Amino acid sequence: MESPQLSSLYQQLILEHYRNPRNKAELDEKTVEIHMANPVCGDEIRLQLRIEGDQIADAKFIGSGCSISQAAVSMMTTRLEGASLDEADALAVRFTEMMHGDDSAAKDKSLGDLRALQGVSKFPVRIKCALLGFDALQEALKKEAEDVGGEPN
Ligand code: ZN
Repeated sequence: MESPQLSSLYQQLILEHYRNPRNKAELDEKTVEIHMANPVCGDEIRLQLRIEGDQIADAKFIGSGCSISQAAVSMMTTRLEGASLDEADALAVRFTEMMHGDDSAAKDKSLGDLRALQGVSKFPVRIKCALLGFDALQEALKKEAEDVGGEPN
């Protein structure tokens, strides 16, 4: 099943995002920011979103850590701009399924470059690295839903 050619292609894609991260900057007009860390590996990100209505108008991040964590969040942000909150949530669910070994998720084209991270699912200690960005995204979506939901706490 394992294709060494494919995995080295994927490795290149991961390194490419690590070296040239997309959307790595402070977002001036953010409506939500989530800080997420993976102390096991030393990865850290701050995900910043500008949500307008039920759409993500812009997504940026600041972060440091291993190539998998930083490439994953870079790839993730490229899928978020213009996405609805439901689409963003579906993407997070799909990616999480893939990281837990779901083969049908791994073939899902909606994941785009993120599929390069499928091989990481075979290395349990690195799964948290890959999921860091999406964990932050899911927190952000939850926070947004609470804010809009309007129950003051
Ligand atoms: Zn890591």
